[in-house]
Amino acid sequence: MFVAAARALGGRAADAPAVDPFAELFVRAAGEEWADLLDGRVPDHLLLNPEFGVQFQQHQIARTRYFDDYLRAAVSAGCRQVVILAAGLDARAYRLPWPDGSVVYELDRPQVLEFKRGTLTQAGLESIAERHEVSVDLRENWPKALRDNGFNPSLPTAWLAEGLLIYLSPAAQDQLFDAIVALSAPGSRVAVEQMDPMPPDTVAAMAEQDDGSDWVRLIYNDPRSEATAWFTGRGWAGERVYLNDYIRELGHIPAAAQSLTNLATLVRP
Ligand code: SAM
Repeated sequence: MFVAAARALGGRAADAPAVDPFAELFVRAAGEEWADLLDGRVPDHLLLNPEFGVQFQQHQIARTRYFDDYLRAAVSAGCRQVVILAAGLDARAYRLPWPDGSVVYELDRPQVLEFKRGTLTQAGLESIAERHEVSVDLRENWPKALRDNGFNPSLPTAWLAEGLLIYLSPAAQDQLFDAIVALSAPGSRVAVEQMDPMPPDTVAAMAEQDDGSDWVRLIYNDPRSEATAWFTGRGWAGERVYLNDYIRELGHIPAAAQSLTNLATLVRP
């Protein structure tokens, strides 16, 4: 919800690199306190903080744009099968101009997908792509759940891991990457958001702050495989861009002096 609220707020600027109108729909459906945030009645909310909040909103909207463009390019290259890992409140199945025959699989925990389905159904909305929800824990046998829901590993697939890897242990991330490779026909591609580990004293300081402590307890800050090196080592081709450089490419000034986040796209020949 925090991410969706950042997307809703960050998309309001006239020159925002991306706009996701569904983010506001979800945030309002989550309850009055969230609607109050959007309507400016919680001025001291972390998402409105002149330092953290502004950076975080910019981060979310920039990554939205990066992955929107990634999926548009994948579709142009002929991918009609898309797997969004840890889809959360990603509404791309409703939002992007999918050609006929496009199928989007959304994987996340059951509670998240239930909230999402309820909100979209109540609003009377229908997805543009054929959409399949796959309720699963990504540390379990999600490839089986994906296949059971109709996924075809002989078709080229566009995989997306946005806002996910940091919530997986380094070993769980490697398993996820192994599974992606095993399920990817030639012409498949993957895009990820990843973050270099933070200095341990930064993490310790965050854990002590009231506002940042919850997030710090959800993540794994340990060294882990770097996706570009991992996939290129297995014959895929691609590159990554640091978020701040990407924000500059979009013609904006990064709000954060430094960012450990980068975005990568890899293609299987
Ligand atoms: N990709 C979405 C986006 O960018 O808006 C959601 C990002 S949100 C920060 C992280 C998502 O990861 C949540 O929806 C959460 O439920 C999901 N998630 C985290 N760990 C998971 C796991 N082990 N299995 C399935 N989903 C998981």
